[in-house]
Amino acid sequence: MALRQIRIMGDEKLEKVCRPVTEMTPKLKQLVQDMLDTMYDAGGVGLAAPQVGILKRIVVIDVGEERNEPLILVNPVLLEQSGEQTGQEGCLSLPGQAGMVTRPNHVKIRACDENMQEFEMEAEELLARAICHELDHLEGIMYVRHVEGELFEVTEEEEDEEPDTNAGKRRKGRK
Ligand code: ZN
Repeated sequence: MALRQIRIMGDEKLEKVCRPVTEMTPKLKQLVQDMLDTMYDAGGVGLAAPQVGILKRIVVIDVGEERNEPLILVNPVLLEQSGEQTGQEGCLSLPGQAGMVTRPNHVKIRACDENMQEFEMEAEELLARAICHELDHLEGIMYVRHVEGELFEVTEEEEDEEPDTNAGKRRKGRK
């Protein structure tokens, strides 16, 4: 297990547009694995490559409930979006804070998996929110740009009220 350092808001890597992946190299496969390790270790539900300082279009997501395996998105593209959901959002690159963000309730995306096999998928609710949040990171956009009202503090105690439901996976809604 290899953890990478998560960049904090203000870091210039979080403000850049990421480059597409043209070939899945052993180095990038290692990056994907490290991103998963880093996301789980930090108790997040998603992580984008720029958050660990790599300007490539790679995202990992695990919102828990629906999937047993984490979602790995390489070069993801938003094809369709519909509906609205407004809810609390946070980010591993802005620890201890959260804000209310409106996102589409349903999205359809196209992406490649870690073997560069293209697929399409649809998602709703929390997973749709996570996908939108992570795709924004690939454009250099932090969620704070979408926040309605003020950011607010979320203390570790509050976050920890949610029981751990799965070995080693803490889900605090931070991405
Ligand atoms: Zn984030």
